Amino acid sequence: MCSYLVCFRDNCREKYPIDSVLYQCPRCGGLLEASYRWDAAGVSGWKTLWRNRRLDNSALEQSGVWRYRESIPFLQDISRVVTLREGNTPLLPAPLAAQYAGLDALTFKHQGFNPTGSFKDNGMTCGVSQAVQLGRTLVGCVSTGNTSASMAAYASAAGLKPVIFLPHGNISFGKLSQALEYGALTLQVHANFDQILAFVRQIADRAGLYLLNSINPFRIEGQKTIAIEMLDQLDWRAPDWVVMPGGNLGNCAAIGKGFLEMHELGLIDRLPRIAVIQSAGAAPFYEFMKAPGEDKFRAVESPETLATAIRIGNPVSWPKAWSVLRRTNGTVERASEQEIADAKAVIGRAGIGCEPASAATLAGIRKLVASHIIRREDHVVGVLTGNVLKDPDYIYRYHTGQLKTPGGKPITSTYGNKPVEVTADADAVVGMLTKL
Ligand SMILES: *Cc1c(COP(=O)(O)O)cnc(C)c1O
Ligand SMILES: [Zn+2]
Repeated sequence: MCSYLVCFRDNCREKYPIDSVLYQCPRCGGLLEASYRWDAAGVSGWKTLWRNRRLDNSALEQSGVWRYRESIPFLQDISRVVTLREGNTPLLPAPLAAQYAGLDALTFKHQGFNPTGSFKDNGMTCGVSQAVQLGRTLVGCVSTGNTSASMAAYASAAGLKPVIFLPHGNISFGKLSQALEYGALTLQVHANFDQILAFVRQIADRAGLYLLNSINPFRIEGQKTIAIEMLDQLDWRAPDWVVMPGGNLGNCAAIGKGFLEMHELGLIDRLPRIAVIQSAGAAPFYEFMKAPGEDKFRAVESPETLATAIRIGNPVSWPKAWSVLRRTNGTVERASEQEIADAKAVIGRAGIGCEPASAATLAGIRKLVASHIIRREDHVVGVLTGNVLKDPDYIYRYHTGQLKTPGGKPITSTYGNKPVEVTADADAVVGMLTKL
């Protein structure tokens, strides 16, 4: 057995076969993670192997996840992978955003370039491939957002049936519409998010439903390759800082695991520091990190933020994210609705664009530079998690001065760009254009 699931709790570390259908450690309730006995002999050849695969047109090598499959060797049968050619996301230099943040330079790794428009695809190709490997035909998740959009696409592409559970009435249309289009059975349940989660856990085994919520350890494996692809693109020079938004904290856990494993295996000679940015209205991890401790985590009762992808009060992956921050000398920051909205508009003006949660990255970098935690000359990579088109309503409201915080406070359109009404008067319009 060269791959297995292991309990994440230091005082447990119980191991389970890789093909167990478990979402938590049966012994202690801890999170599970995939772990491997690496074939050390091959590791020195990985960089060249991975680079050369970019020249290969086969499906597996065209995927920015499976190209790095030696780093995620949990599947017995690689021929049954389901891929939509996820990953392959660009590193984009953004001088305008760097200037805004007070940095000499800033690069974004834009996960919004994925097939369904978010980094969830990096994880879902692995989660759904594992479902296929296990012989499952029904997969499910509780989500109103990018997880359901991604799961629906990958499950349908694999010929499985996706089932999405969501709270009645609490819907974000941009993302939900993707799930509908990709053919998910969508169940609106009369209960709140946490109740639905408990309900689905309870019925999953009886219904034969394989759960692809964020604690699924195979999704974490796929998201790990965001770090690996980044290093490949940087010719294996680790940045000083890698910064990302934090909701359920699965992405921090995954990207951190990627860097830590690459470091352990000797593919990089130092670790980047990881920074997680939360929205001020949903910042339990920020509060926790002020005075961390094993039993000190306090959930936020009713999290509120316009950055819906990080509107999470009780992030399931906090123990893993805490471990990543300890081991990488990382940090956590929070950003207000105004700060996120302005950072988002700056990313837009740079010709890049992203969804609200992603912009927390830039808002947080700016604050960490101002407080001298990140230095002006540091090599910083910011992860943009989702596509600009995920939330067009937010964008229109911001640029037309109608955006309000969840509490009803107006957000200033610092970088607003309103449509301008004109009559079809040639002289007037030409006069206007020639003054630009
Ligand atoms: C899921 C998601 C997040 C939050 O990631 P976590 O792993 O839950 O911390 C941030 N941004 C976008 C666009 C997402 O879809
Ligand atoms: Zn355990």
